[in-house]
Amino acid sequence: MNRSALKPLPDQSPAILALHDVRVHYPMGKDWLGRPKAFAHALNGIDLQVRAGETLGVVGESGCGKSTLAQLLMGLIKPTAGRLAWVYSTEQERSSNVQIVFQDPQSSLDPRLPVWKIITEPLFVQRSAPRQAMRAIAAKVASQVGIRTEYLERFPHQFSGGQRQRIAIARALSSDPDIIVLDEPTSALDISVQAQILNLLADLQRSRDLTYILISHNVSVVRHMADRVAVMYLGQIVELGTAAEVLERPRHPYTQLLLEAVPRLGVAVDEAQASAPTELPGNRTLPTGCFFRDRCPKATAGCEQPQALLPVRGAAEGERVRCHLAS
Ligand code: SF4
Repeated sequence: MNRSALKPLPDQSPAILALHDVRVHYPMGKDWLGRPKAFAHALNGIDLQVRAGETLGVVGESGCGKSTLAQLLMGLIKPTAGRLAWVYSTEQERSSNVQIVFQDPQSSLDPRLPVWKIITEPLFVQRSAPRQAMRAIAAKVASQVGIRTEYLERFPHQFSGGQRQRIAIARALSSDPDIIVLDEPTSALDISVQAQILNLLADLQRSRDLTYILISHNVSVVRHMADRVAVMYLGQIVELGTAAEVLERPRHPYTQLLLEAVPRLGVAVDEAQASAPTELPGNRTLPTGCFFRDRCPKATAGCEQPQALLPVRGAAEGERVRCHLAS
């Protein structure tokens, strides 16, 4: 079920984050003068607003720039160019209000720590709560994600994959954030557990007024959760709009191919079935004109020009496509 069927779209919500023409280019190798031999062009001009209370789905194939976007939002890397504008005035405020849930709870949880310490890691790092209050905070958050408080002294290997992901979610919640970046939150889980985790995330969003940035290559998961969707290809957003518009009436040829490859199931979908239809080209040398031109079944005259993300004729306000045929 689409999230937009469950709650009103937060069209009027203020932007909690805005990205302005953000680029991330990684240097690769060095010549004898110490200069980069080449650059990996991971993000190539991202313009995006995230509204308070929404779930923004970011979808695309591996290598399209989704993970770089997650790292950028977590402050782990800096943009090469462009600007991120948060509502927060200090870096400390941003770091306690923006948390992340990673794909694989097996590797994201420290195996040497008991669960209560894992859950309160953000508070230890930010020194934002007294040490004697940590256990009580861990117990409260654990109960909200369905982990029994008598298990707080246990270690990650004593839990199932689904329980570990609940612990990872509890860790993200412990600093009472506004925004959680969900980086492929169910892709390492058994299909039978995926729906439980997605439903837990939806319940938490309602009860805690959270904003989610859901990064996934799994279109079915995005369809289930997202209010709005950004489709990425080669470090650019090629289509942006409400989940209903983008996923039911895709306008960009790449979005159309992506969706054709995904069976229209409910929540759970086999990862192999949900994989994307094409292989991304390398990002060392970017194509000229439309980045999708070499593989686009609708390429025509005009496609050799660079394409901007523009409003769509006859669509709702906010719908944007990077293709001159649609815009
Ligand atoms: Fe295809 Fe041309 Fe549109 Fe690019 S601009 S997506 S090549 S039709």
